[in-house]
Amino acid sequence: MRIEEVGATRLGAKFSDERNCSNRNSSLLPVTHSTEQTIASDRTVRLLDTTLRDGEQAPGVSLSPDEKVEIARSLERAGVSVIEAGSACTGAGERQAISRVTDLDLDARVTSFCRGMKSDVDLALDCNVDGVLIVVPSSDRHVERKVGISREENLEKTAEIVSYAKDHGLWVEALGEDGSRADLDYLEQLAEASLDAGADRFCFADTVGHAGPERTHEAVSRLAEIGPVGAHTHDDLGLGVTNALAAVSAGADLVHCTVNGLGERAGNVALEEVAISLSHVYGVETLELEELYDLAQIVSRSTGVQLPPNKAVIGENAFTHESGIHTDGTLKDDKMYEPYAPETVGRERRLALGKHTGRAGVEAALDEHGIEATDDEIAEIATRVTELGDRGRRVTDADLLAVAEDVTGDDRDRVVELLDLTATSGGAVPTASVRLDVDGEERVASGTGSGPVDAAVSAVREALGSMANAELESYHVDAVTGGTDAVVTVEVTMARNDRSVTVACSEADITRASVKAMVDALDRLLAADEQPLTPADD
Ligand SMILES: [Zn+2]
Repeated sequence: MRIEEVGATRLGAKFSDERNCSNRNSSLLPVTHSTEQTIASDRTVRLLDTTLRDGEQAPGVSLSPDEKVEIARSLERAGVSVIEAGSACTGAGERQAISRVTDLDLDARVTSFCRGMKSDVDLALDCNVDGVLIVVPSSDRHVERKVGISREENLEKTAEIVSYAKDHGLWVEALGEDGSRADLDYLEQLAEASLDAGADRFCFADTVGHAGPERTHEAVSRLAEIGPVGAHTHDDLGLGVTNALAAVSAGADLVHCTVNGLGERAGNVALEEVAISLSHVYGVETLELEELYDLAQIVSRSTGVQLPPNKAVIGENAFTHESGIHTDGTLKDDKMYEPYAPETVGRERRLALGKHTGRAGVEAALDEHGIEATDDEIAEIATRVTELGDRGRRVTDADLLAVAEDVTGDDRDRVVELLDLTATSGGAVPTASVRLDVDGEERVASGTGSGPVDAAVSAVREALGSMANAELESYHVDAVTGGTDAVVTVEVTMARNDRSVTVACSEADITRASVKAMVDALDRLLAADEQPLTPADD
């Protein structure tokens, strides 16, 4: 067997139907949107993730080889069909990162982005990729003004580079850059030239996020007559998902996306949004949807780009209910104010407390913390929670518990309290020492860390020993005012024994605010351990 054939067999397996995911998520809610769906539920649609290439081109984002490996692994868990691991021509570091990803021997096909140059293809081959995405100009703006050649020359060069890559056993997708602004007759010629030269597919690219769904549908319909077609959409008009769906309805079967919609300018179309809308609206399954939130968090952590709170699927608020009416409705019926269950995408529903919280929300939150209160007390606690929310802040678990203790007159002794904290930084090793009151006994400990907060937290853990066994689920810092003398609010969520508690603390000193918030959260969790909840089964 020749090498090309071995490659083809291996790659054929990568695109087998086994990678198409099960329909298990769709049973959570029936899809009953319209009798005339433009995308049939038996369509096979696959996703190409380009977080590691187009996503990394977002301003200020740079991923280390280790980070690329971690993201590639989680893309594989989610069942992405093609992973564009980078641009081999970028440099030696990038090639090392791509090679690390190809070394993982994933089920997903791993590709590199290449310009229409043999040297780019050679560099991609050095990384042992399964395939390449070859970008060629398609609009006159790009053909004549950027590259400076004629349309005819561009067709010839495209055919040449595609056959070069095919001769080296690569899977090839030719992407007509700026296709949404190209003359569609010429775009067709470019697709024909690519496919005739052996390309496996052609991709319609809305490189600058310029098209609307009608233009996308028209272009992709025409290209789909010629051969297999993909779609690469950007979100400059907020139409990334709409255009991706228009492309699929016109016949595209490979959609390029990035996790969290990361990418140049306004970003690429978001992987999670394409996957959930294809599943929820059309019953077309592309991914293991329950992996999406993990994936979003891994990418957010590696890139330093925070998850916008109001984004579909991944945003903090996507499954959080605060208003009284919505909380009340949601407590009566999970689906009352949600299109699909949060578990579908690996998340949990959260009821937040704030100025809109009503009685039902407060009662549910008190229940969650195992606090008993009379109807009158609950009404009073709800009023006070609204007052706290009125002051423009989020009401945390700790605030609710403090209000509840005040109203019910249930004084409790603290288990842990921070008495004193000293931290030094700027030297070789940041160091901190803490003095804690633990059940009336004073404990002192010190610790080191990557910075003063880290050092102080390790000192607290040292002082508490096994009592500090709790997971830090989230840690957020917000500067309340703008200057270097700003008061910062640190909000931590800690979990222990299936119970989690959120505490916020505002101070001018970030280390002190962090440690106080963490100690207060531990105090709440330890107090809850001492007063076990009555069993939940009733
Ligand atoms: Zn792009």
